[in-house]
Amino acid sequence: MKHDHEHYLSQTAKDLQPSGIRKFFDLAASMKDVISLGVGEPDFITPWSIREAAILSLEQGFTSYTANAGLLELREEISFYLSGRFGVQYDPKSQIIVTIGASQAIDLAFRAILNQGDEVLIVEPAFVSYAPLVAIAGGTPVAVATSPANGFKVTPEQIEAAITGKTKAILLCSPNNPTGSTLTKDELIEITEIIRKHDLIVVSDEIYCELTYDEAFTSVAAIEGMYERTILINGFSKGFAMTGWRLGFLAAPKEFVAVMLKIHQYTTMCAPNMLQHGAIEALRNTYHEVESMRNSYRRRRNYVVQTLNQIGLNCHTPGGAFYVFPSIRSTGLSSEQFAEELLMQEKVAVVPGHVFGESGEGYIRCSYAASMDQLQEALKRIRRFIESKGVIASSPSEKVKIR
Ligand code: PLP
Repeated sequence: MKHDHEHYLSQTAKDLQPSGIRKFFDLAASMKDVISLGVGEPDFITPWSIREAAILSLEQGFTSYTANAGLLELREEISFYLSGRFGVQYDPKSQIIVTIGASQAIDLAFRAILNQGDEVLIVEPAFVSYAPLVAIAGGTPVAVATSPANGFKVTPEQIEAAITGKTKAILLCSPNNPTGSTLTKDELIEITEIIRKHDLIVVSDEIYCELTYDEAFTSVAAIEGMYERTILINGFSKGFAMTGWRLGFLAAPKEFVAVMLKIHQYTTMCAPNMLQHGAIEALRNTYHEVESMRNSYRRRRNYVVQTLNQIGLNCHTPGGAFYVFPSIRSTGLSSEQFAEELLMQEKVAVVPGHVFGESGEGYIRCSYAASMDQLQEALKRIRRFIESKGVIASSPSEKVKIR
């Protein structure tokens, strides 16, 4: 008998759209000689001493469950890291949970705070998970569109205009994926005034905190009056080049953490023991390696932004993360057409901007977490593609200096 599987599925689950990033990634993976600027992860391998610590912990037999919130030793290191680096104090025993990536931490945050129909403001263009995770938790995502005129930074006015009687929270992500835009401390102070005025909670995704290039990073929780209303999301994936480890953490007022811990305990139990030993090593001893990766990203950012602008793709200089978000409007193509044709014609994979929200239409996301050789070759191919579309590169013969 043929089953009508559709009939059994939840409407919320059916309504979810597959991630547009994966679609391009899968397409690119099926082709030969593609240079991928598509996926958002470091091109570095996790520093050796972190891998060694995890191997050693396996050798020593650390194969059991840990405390639900994670190894206390790791939570102590996270607490020390957050206070030392960003000046925010969290009690390791009651205010920190080690999660399966920042992804799970975001999920826990929304599940813990949302009732059916609560609205969450999402500053767009935005990381693809936020709106689906809000919907899964029963909330309603509300897009707050930013524009390149303001470097893709949200303003207090834009936030205030989107607030309704149902608004419960706002998701802030600085440095941002996909635009790389990074809010300064002063900008955060202005924005958080509105957030306090309207009594909102901030889910602050600080996963790119180690990757800022022009200014020191400021945590939302460190802004006066914000600690009590912030759920801080962070993790090891980006700064420490540990995407495959699936390790993140959250820190928040203990009343929030107690509720998130219940959900975590029932859905996940705990993060993997041996990998948590690697994370302890990451926080204790690998800061110099993070710094060297950051310096390398900064050089690549400077090169990529300068070259894109030279070839006629207008691109603001992002303050952090490892993405650029150039406009492709000069080509007359939609971002989907641009990404598809570029892939087919020149074998360079980028992500069309619209997958990050409507305001991303007219842009593409390129990750510069690739080697300098790959970036140079990719930009050569993009230039050729642009020229084939009849867009004149501003100074085609000019050699771009790599700083
Ligand atoms: N938040 C942002 C803004 C991201 O870009 C990503 C990954 O691309 C994540 C969260 C997920 O991070 P994790 O690997 O820690 O789950």
